[in-house]
Amino acid sequence: MTGPRVQAAVRQAELPMLRAYRLWFEHARKCAACKRVTRANDGCENGRGLWDAYRRAYDGGAQLTPAERMVDQ
Ligand SMILES: [Zn+2]
Repeated sequence: MTGPRVQAAVRQAELPMLRAYRLWFEHARKCAACKRVTRANDGCENGRGLWDAYRRAYDGGAQLTPAERMVDQ
């Protein structure tokens, strides 16, 4: 059973995760190294860092570290 309250909580937890995913996706689209790998973990150092941030956001409901905020700028 999921009420509106639960759905709102899920939506809030989703935002940093989606943002982290978008950052990685936008990098991978432009990065020659990341574009041709099939798994993000095989990409360049930058790509792997962005992917790690996404995985952490996905797993932890997303507490962004200052370093990850810098990536966003
Ligand atoms: Zn890359």
